[in-house]
Amino acid sequence: MKLIPLPAFTDNYLWLLHDEHQALVVDPGDAQTVLQALQRLDLRLEAILVTHHHADHTGGVDALREATGAAVYGPAREPVSEPVHRMNQGDRVRALGLEFVVMDVPGHTAGHIAYYSDAGFDGAPLLFCGDTLFSAGCGRLFEGTPAQMLASLDALAALPADTWVCCAHEYTLGNLAFACAVDPANEALHNYAVTARERRATQQPTLPSPLRLERQINPFLRTREEAIIHAAQGFDPTASEAAEVFAALRTWKNEFR
Ligand code: ZN
Ligand code: FE
Repeated sequence: MKLIPLPAFTDNYLWLLHDEHQALVVDPGDAQTVLQALQRLDLRLEAILVTHHHADHTGGVDALREATGAAVYGPAREPVSEPVHRMNQGDRVRALGLEFVVMDVPGHTAGHIAYYSDAGFDGAPLLFCGDTLFSAGCGRLFEGTPAQMLASLDALAALPADTWVCCAHEYTLGNLAFACAVDPANEALHNYAVTARERRATQQPTLPSPLRLERQINPFLRTREEAIIHAAQGFDPTASEAAEVFAALRTWKNEFR
């Protein structure tokens, strides 16, 4: 199995998974990027997986469906053009001989879903999480509450530690700048920031990221840790419950430059 982040727009990745013959793509905001990759690699597109309704994730769906006949899977409760298989928590997608389980992960949008396969990438667990979890960060809350997003991130963080996390944007360096401000004594975080900067300096993606690492360095997955609570209280002294700590971090990050 090959797992390729196709860059698109400013900082999107359209994830392409293939077995040298058949492929699936996640969140194709742009059709041309995907069609060129399919042609270059001589692949047939079997499935299109959509995590949420934003245009940078869905803009290429119609053209790709038309050009390839691929089946489209998307969230049950968000506007995605028909025909689409509408997926709810626990539903399964079969493609490339793999099985992906759908997880409801509201917060960035109200009906956002993620796709998880326990052996999706050469036997290792694989997660396509759209704009929910980013490396060292998380998505903005456009349609959901902090409590919803925290519950979604908790569910993702509970997946196996060796899960490869495929996020839909290369936001890692910006997220790391904020994470280092929140959690300055975290050695794993500083080590990862060095590695990530080296990768970006040579135009390499920082993704996919192992979930084990995200649990160590991502402040939005660490809202019950003493250091994170303390930092969040520097921004909002009333924050104490995990959802309040999360809300304080998310608001702080929105203002962080
Ligand atoms: Zn989005
Ligand atoms: Fe996006």
